[in-house]
Amino acid sequence: MRLAGKVALVTGGSRGNGRAIAIGFAREGADVAVNYQSHVDEALSAVEGIRALGRKAIAVQADCSNSAQVAAMVDKVAEEFGRIDVLVSNAGILRRTPFLEITEDEWDWIMDVNLKGCFLVGQAVARRMVKQKGGVIINVSSVGAVNPGLNVAHYNTSKAGVSQLTRNMAFELAGHGIRVNSLCPGLIETDINRKDLAHAGFRNTRLASIPMKLIGSPEDLVGSAVYLACDDSCLVTGIQLFVDGGITMR
Ligand code: NAD
Repeated sequence: MRLAGKVALVTGGSRGNGRAIAIGFAREGADVAVNYQSHVDEALSAVEGIRALGRKAIAVQADCSNSAQVAAMVDKVAEEFGRIDVLVSNAGILRRTPFLEITEDEWDWIMDVNLKGCFLVGQAVARRMVKQKGGVIINVSSVGAVNPGLNVAHYNTSKAGVSQLTRNMAFELAGHGIRVNSLCPGLIETDINRKDLAHAGFRNTRLASIPMKLIGSPEDLVGSAVYLACDDSCLVTGIQLFVDGGITMR
């Protein structure tokens, strides 16, 4: 029970990686607020999964790229649980568009959700953590933060921003007892890429680029997320933890 007595907020926690991390944290003893944008049924099902483990949970709606909604979400979680010990900024979107065809609107949308979302939620939660004199923030980045890829210039640039935002947050917040790290998944099969992975050509090309020849599942991220969230990593801040089957080793 490495997170006993802790309160966690997981953005985009209703499905995929966020849901696995939310339920994994509950398994380690945390109470969890599950943020969702529009799929309330999925969020309530994650909440049920957490309550079934004997922990407290709420679903809390917010578009993480909207500052007013983020402020209301953080207030609601703090009202409900009294504090926020761990934030996982996991909400994210991906579009595959050739660089020459990315529109300004699509560029802004990806940046708003993936990068500005981490800034808005991270700042609102960190302000509370400063008053609490401590906390842990995990920003979900990607191998795309360091590796280029086809048709994902905006996505990968947003994730590079997330990793650099993480380092700057870690640097400024260290004196307040707040640790900030990024968790960088490789290829994990979720709704974000399920349609792409259904095509044998795409799946095989991607698999060929992974030294371990494995496509991960959201559960494969849980151990690393728990490690970054709990005191096992008490001296770890400002890092990118790659969970990627070796994609970034070269
Ligand atoms: P997913 O599509 O299943 O989950 C994304 C979640 O983010 C969903 O719950 C969605 O509702 C939520 N979301 C999207 N926009 C939002 C907004 N504006 N406000 C609040 N919530 C919003 O995909 P996933 O793979 O579970 O993605 C989770 C995170 O993992 C993302 O940040 C993604 O970039 C990152 N990631 C995924 C992979 C992968 O291979 N699956 C690899 C690297 C990084």
